[in-house]
Amino acid sequence: MYFRIILATAACAFLCAAQDHTLGYDNTPVYPGMKWRVHDVSRPRPEMVTPGATPGAAPSDAEVLFDGKDLSKWISKWKVENGYVECIPRQGGMRTKESFGDIQLHVEWASPAVIEGKSQDRGNSGIMIMGKYEVQVLDSWENPTYADGQAASIYGQYPPLVNASRKPGEWQTYDIFFEAPKFDGEKLLRPAYVTVIHNGILVQNHEEIKGTTPHATLGVYKAHGDLPLELQNHNTKVRYRNIWVRRLKPRV
Ligand code: MG
Repeated sequence: MYFRIILATAACAFLCAAQDHTLGYDNTPVYPGMKWRVHDVSRPRPEMVTPGATPGAAPSDAEVLFDGKDLSKWISKWKVENGYVECIPRQGGMRTKESFGDIQLHVEWASPAVIEGKSQDRGNSGIMIMGKYEVQVLDSWENPTYADGQAASIYGQYPPLVNASRKPGEWQTYDIFFEAPKFDGEKLLRPAYVTVIHNGILVQNHEEIKGTTPHATLGVYKAHGDLPLELQNHNTKVRYRNIWVRRLKPRV
């Protein structure tokens, strides 16, 4: 009898101890330069975020910038219809009212189904991050142009790793991960970095942005804080829908 009780107590102690270890440890080593132990029991767990219901849908902590109908988060003269907003040539770009720094950005876009023009005049627009750093939007389906100006290029700096373009008129996705440049006064401390996924395919892998992205000359860095996001008007009727952004915070 006593032997059974001792056995049961020992088993419980063992199981309880094992259960505790599922929540972490307080006696494990620490990597040099790191704050937390391996499996540290005190380490804060990340907050819950509910993913979007379907691929490309906004997760619960995203700010929806455009849902296909409402342009109230933008300064814009573009046309909203049928669940998208379409660029009106010579009416300026679209600019968010709010400013952003480090972000994850989801954008869906389509170049005109009817092909007009060639090279840079065919379905040209752009995701102007902070209004300064362009991820090119272009109809790059069988449309030769300079490599660092095709769709998903960092304009004037990096061609995409591959051309992941769909046909004209088809909806395409960009998922962009952007780390804003950091300044100390006028001095650049850390350049901007960008990762771009085009239609599910990695095309820019944490590239160091060299500065602003002007046409046919070198970009520069000039100190700035958070700034609005812009969509470029390049006088072609590019359409956008389902735009959302997550402000990126450092790991807890
Ligand atoms: Mg452009």
